[in-house]
Amino acid sequence: MPKFGGIEAGGSKFVCAVGSGPDDLDLVEIPTTTPPETIRHVLEFFGRRGRVEAVGIGSFGPIDPDPQSATFGCITSTPKQAWRNFNLAGPIRAALHAKVAFDTDVNAAAFGEFRWGAAQSLDTFLYLAVGTGLGGGGMVNGRLLHGRTHPEMGHLRIPHDLQRDPFPGNCPYHGDCLEGLAAAPAIEARWAKPAHELSAGHPAWELEAHYLALGIANLACALSPQRIILGGGVMRRGELYPLVRVKVATLLNGYVDAPEIVPPQLGARAGVLGAIALAQALIVGDARLLS
Ligand code: ZN
Repeated sequence: MPKFGGIEAGGSKFVCAVGSGPDDLDLVEIPTTTPPETIRHVLEFFGRRGRVEAVGIGSFGPIDPDPQSATFGCITSTPKQAWRNFNLAGPIRAALHAKVAFDTDVNAAAFGEFRWGAAQSLDTFLYLAVGTGLGGGGMVNGRLLHGRTHPEMGHLRIPHDLQRDPFPGNCPYHGDCLEGLAAAPAIEARWAKPAHELSAGHPAWELEAHYLALGIANLACALSPQRIILGGGVMRRGELYPLVRVKVATLLNGYVDAPEIVPPQLGARAGVLGAIALAQALIVGDARLLS
């Protein structure tokens, strides 16, 4: 079985793996520090694992995922200064002498779930990650979503009732967009406590489900996904799923069917497995799925 490389490039850690799927994954986590130091650790990992056919990278962003573009493989306008306009794919391609597939972390996770998880046999579905940030990717009509660059579903504008929730939102670009109201840093800033320390019955969860449902109802109306996979650290609070499902159904009010809302089957490995799947698709000729 040919070996592939996968990298889930995140703001706090890089998850690197070699393998061909969920059953033979050789995986390591590297803290995200400066770009040169992080890349050096990534290349040391792959250097010890022997040749890979291709490498897939799912990265935090925004990024340039267009293979025809001069800045393909770069992280673009991230608030993380050191990583802004950093060419992530270039040094990895050069050092490993391998083809590189490059996409958003959430498109990679979506592709992993399509290949081995909760989106097998679907052609229109979304993967939303609710964690340190809030991002969404997925497929429409059997192709990964791109466009002018790529969707930024976390930055949807949603109704914000300041009477009910006076927290102004903390997105550096928009204030009270979906990410600014519902990602983990917003929960922590609003309630002065990290999300994982809030009790099960805390009003935070009702409000969180409310915001997620507003975003999901908009996405359901725009893209008509068959299923929406909700992952990321915040969704480890399993009690959110039933709350979100009820609120989405209420918002859609029977006008269109609500999409199924499920956890990722691949759990926290969706991103890195998706990166492996992206690399495989490059080699075995499924590249049309990626474009
Ligand atoms: Zn925003």
